[in-house]
Amino acid sequence: MPPPPARAAAEAPYTPRSLAATRAAMLPLLVERVRAGFWLSFVSLALFAVADFVIHPEQLGRLYLIAGLQVAAVAWGMRALRSVGTWEQGVRIPLVVVAFLFATGLVSDVLSSNAQATTIIPFASSWLTATLMPWGVVPQILMVLLSGLTSLSAILLVRGSLDGLEHSVVTAVLLLLGSIYVAYAGDRSRRERQQSEDALTASTRRAEEEARIAAVLVDVGETLAGHLGQADMLERVNALARAALDCDWSCTYVGDERRGTSRLVASAGARAEVLELIAQLELPLDPLAASPVNGDGVLELCDASEQSFFPGEMLRRLDVGSALCAPVRRGGAMIGMQAHGYRDRRGPFSSSQRRLAAGIAHATAIALENARLIADLQAASRLKTDFVATMSHELRTPLNVITGYTDMLAEGAIGGSLSPEQQETIGRVRRSADELLELVNATLDVGRLEAGRDPVARDPVPLASLLAELDGELRPLVADGVALHWLDESGGAAVVTDRTKLKTVLKNLAGNALKFTRAGAVAVTTAVDEDVLTVTVRDTGIGIPVDQIPHIFEMFRQVDGSSTRRYGGVGLGLHIVRRLVDLLGGTVAVTSAPGTGSTFTVRVPAPVVAYRATGT
Ligand code: ADP
Repeated sequence: MPPPPARAAAEAPYTPRSLAATRAAMLPLLVERVRAGFWLSFVSLALFAVADFVIHPEQLGRLYLIAGLQVAAVAWGMRALRSVGTWEQGVRIPLVVVAFLFATGLVSDVLSSNAQATTIIPFASSWLTATLMPWGVVPQILMVLLSGLTSLSAILLVRGSLDGLEHSVVTAVLLLLGSIYVAYAGDRSRRERQQSEDALTASTRRAEEEARIAAVLVDVGETLAGHLGQADMLERVNALARAALDCDWSCTYVGDERRGTSRLVASAGARAEVLELIAQLELPLDPLAASPVNGDGVLELCDASEQSFFPGEMLRRLDVGSALCAPVRRGGAMIGMQAHGYRDRRGPFSSSQRRLAAGIAHATAIALENARLIADLQAASRLKTDFVATMSHELRTPLNVITGYTDMLAEGAIGGSLSPEQQETIGRVRRSADELLELVNATLDVGRLEAGRDPVARDPVPLASLLAELDGELRPLVADGVALHWLDESGGAAVVTDRTKLKTVLKNLAGNALKFTRAGAVAVTTAVDEDVLTVTVRDTGIGIPVDQIPHIFEMFRQVDGSSTRRYGGVGLGLHIVRRLVDLLGGTVAVTSAPGTGSTFTVRVPAPVVAYRATGT
């Protein structure tokens, strides 16, 4: 069984280090400084050897013997440093070497009757250790005692008394005491620096951990938003949760309020056998109801074999060694649960794991709620579309009856010919019925588009015959003084596209052009270039104000929407054009100037095909 992951250091609240821990952290520095001191000692011993050679050639044998012993002591210290393991050892080694050097130096001084070395060197050494050694007050006091004792002994042994040296003694004492204070101040500032570095490291780690949690939750939020309502939405979240919590598996259960149970709906990392087993299980709607959850609402099973809330054998078969269970709540009610866990690893979860589990469950709850709302809206929209489609369809039948009978009345087929007033009235009835029929047809078209029930067909469409057909249908709408031109510049090509949709687009655009043109011409041109069909509908009509152009494709938008408007129409034609052109994968653009006319240009991908009409 792998060992439980240590709780992230970032989670341990910052506590200042103990003195022992501070010393342990500073041991490498102490060793480095002591080693530097030893190298300094080697150099000074070499220099003293040269001085002795010059000043005391008669004593050279004994002095060099002592110097040899001193070199050996420093070399021992150097060697001992290599295996230093504790702070005490690190302090003891240099003090022992110094004591030996001072004592042997004293012997040298007595031999050469010269107290010069052992009066100056100890003071210099004390100041050096006070500034260099990160060892604090106590070792420095020992150093000062050694120095003072050595100097005093040297003076008394060589000179016999302190007479005449009173001022020097007072100065020496002050110097030694000063070195203790320097050691104390240095030690204190080093410890303070260490503590602030520790605090900074701890807060940096905490900030990094916070940033990691935030990044994971943003990632989860984006995944949920990007796949809202899609079948794999929760699977993706489980995969993200598993990676972020560094778990073996992650599962999401969603409650079925009607049955009062919850079932597994998504997972990541779980073994197939376990998933099979879970599929047979009926969990209670709120499986955490009887268990002791934390303040964050998350239940932590540190060791599945040592708890009494769930059957241990079942958890073992479900690969639950340890787990975190986070409730997915809507309002206060539990609507599901997410569990993340390890197969074998046992032990507490880290607080960032708990926070992530709670955060992910929260985001999941919001996404599930949004998905439910969207599903409700879609159902309502479907209902509305079905209703509109049925109503429109049902309206067409009586309308056809009305137009049929008005035509018969107008032709005098029922009860003989009509008076001019009667003709006028019947004419109005007929126009109103036509407008109503147009509205019903447009509503039906929009309904079909909204429902997405209009798949795009791809058939060869000979452009010339399409234009001829449209001419036949639109000719009755051409006003006196207006010329309608059809121009096929493709050279009689056939293109692959959806014939019905393309025809509706052209009919709506050309119909509008004829409706809004009282004099001049309307020209519809088709051209094909590199498998793109371009249709241009140009008119010399009333034109469209520039500020209105962006709005004319919206539903029920008309430039003149007043009740006194001169032109018929319901404001759906261009909306349908744009929806159809979108479906065909094309674009529609407009240029227009009031009083001059408008040009609508439609471009749709439409590969040219060789086509020969059949049956002619
Ligand atoms: P409508 O049924 O009112 O024609 P459309 O959606 O087809 O609805 O057009 C929206 C509005 O755009 C029209 O009411 C009209 O104001 C303006 N429009 C469309 N085509 C033309 C055109 N060729 N010339 C001038 N105005 C136009």
